[in-house]
Amino acid sequence: MSNALSDAMTHADWQRLASELRIETRAFIDDAFVDAQSGETFASINPATGDTLAEVASCDAADAEKAVARARRAFDEGAWSRRSPGARKAVLLRFAELMQTHKQELALLDTLDMGKPIGSSLGDMGGAIACLRHHAESIDKLYGEVAPTGDDALGLVLREPLGVVASIVPWNFPLMMTAWKIAPALAAGNSVILKPSEKSPLSALRLAALAREAGLPAGVFQVLPGFGHTVGKALALSMGVDCLAFTGSTAVGKQLMQYAGQSNLKRVYLECGGKSPNLVFADCKDLDAVARHAAEAIFHNQGEVCIAASRLLVDNRIRETFVDKLLAAAEHMQPGDPLDPASFMGAMVDRTQYQRVLDYIRRGIDEGATLRSGGSASEGPGLFIPPTIFDGVTPSMAIGREEIFGPVLSVFGFDTEEEAVALANDSDYGLAAGVWSQDIDRIMRVSRRLQSGQVYVNNWAGMDQTVPFGGVKQSGNGRDKSHHSLEEYSDLKTVWISLTP
Ligand code: NAD
Repeated sequence: MSNALSDAMTHADWQRLASELRIETRAFIDDAFVDAQSGETFASINPATGDTLAEVASCDAADAEKAVARARRAFDEGAWSRRSPGARKAVLLRFAELMQTHKQELALLDTLDMGKPIGSSLGDMGGAIACLRHHAESIDKLYGEVAPTGDDALGLVLREPLGVVASIVPWNFPLMMTAWKIAPALAAGNSVILKPSEKSPLSALRLAALAREAGLPAGVFQVLPGFGHTVGKALALSMGVDCLAFTGSTAVGKQLMQYAGQSNLKRVYLECGGKSPNLVFADCKDLDAVARHAAEAIFHNQGEVCIAASRLLVDNRIRETFVDKLLAAAEHMQPGDPLDPASFMGAMVDRTQYQRVLDYIRRGIDEGATLRSGGSASEGPGLFIPPTIFDGVTPSMAIGREEIFGPVLSVFGFDTEEEAVALANDSDYGLAAGVWSQDIDRIMRVSRRLQSGQVYVNNWAGMDQTVPFGGVKQSGNGRDKSHHSLEEYSDLKTVWISLTP
């Protein structure tokens, strides 16, 4: 399917395209689509309908071993790793162009696979393509260094690719998270093995075909669908993998660090979970607009967002009014058919995640928080949960501390700026935080004190390919996007040349 149709597609257009879609289900190893060696498959289920979309190859340790050996051979042979940066750039720009051409198909695969609204999936494609273009364009502008050693030696500081990079990614933004990992790793000259989430493998497999069409040499980009405890673990424990680039939960991130320690001390970049605080001070000018943004900040993508603003901290002087405005805003954010461009929220990714969110809602009620909206799931085969808002949440409650990864907002009150900052920082996580205020002194003070990789002032989730994205504390240690992520995928080598007369 090409991008010939305009972006102004209707619900019926998307339904028709979905019915015509051909889905690749096999792993991409070496330069070919193949079944898992075991012959095992797993089902990809559309969570909005309960229909099985495909039976996908379920790779395991044997497939991982084969892919790692092929990736290593490709790296050592140098068809990509030693190709000039300018030539790599040309291939990656062609890859980005192909993604652009097939943007609608890729977006559709993500929407069918994990339930997110089609408008949101299309937005993700824009981010993914921009990421690939950015790193392609950057790679032939990255210089090495000559160290200031003095006249009797030349100290060269060279940048070299790491070798074999395994990218293990989650399901909430399947293709965009993939692009954030593979674009800088490929640009830097590495061989990359992608392990998509077992909950959203389809767009990654389509991507493999586009990579081949763009001209990436055999073994440089391979895709292994399958489960974390099988193929993911095998990659993480492999002696042939030099770097794990991971996005996912904090619990799995901790396991990957252990696997690295048990094997070859591969470097591990982690982008993990969050429980992000959004601070609303009483001096905000337009509380209706702030309430709308605060609702979007948690309910976008069904709350299945690492930087979901799941803790809303509101000055007690305006809290009651503000929560009323929040309820009004959330009314317009009800879940609907993900293929309808008008839907703001879609379906939860699978029954496990759906049940987990409902269990948290039950715990919130049991722990004494006040349920102000939502709270119960819709009937039917689709896994839909409406925007759910709890007021009167305290830090000791599970819904106030733990990452739910669903459309559940916990509202806290505060009386002073000091208390707001302390509440915000009282978390294992440090991914994102928001400050809403008109007072520039306060904005500067609070932004500096928040323990967070991102601080958004009078907006939520403002971002661009040019700025780094990542967390502190148990939200991780890596940075996606910007030239900082490109640097992560190369090593510094010193060449010391004696200049003896
Ligand atoms: P997850 O940790 O369950 O899975 C992520 C990936 O790791 C999947 O591909 C999975 O198969 C694999 N995996 C699981 N166990 C493994 C193991 N033992 N060894 C190797 N691989 C293993 O996370 P998820 O449910 O897919 O995604 C949701 C989580 O991702 C949330 O915590 C969310 O906050 C986080 N996330 C973070 C960011 C960020 O940039 N910080 C972005 C998106 C999502």
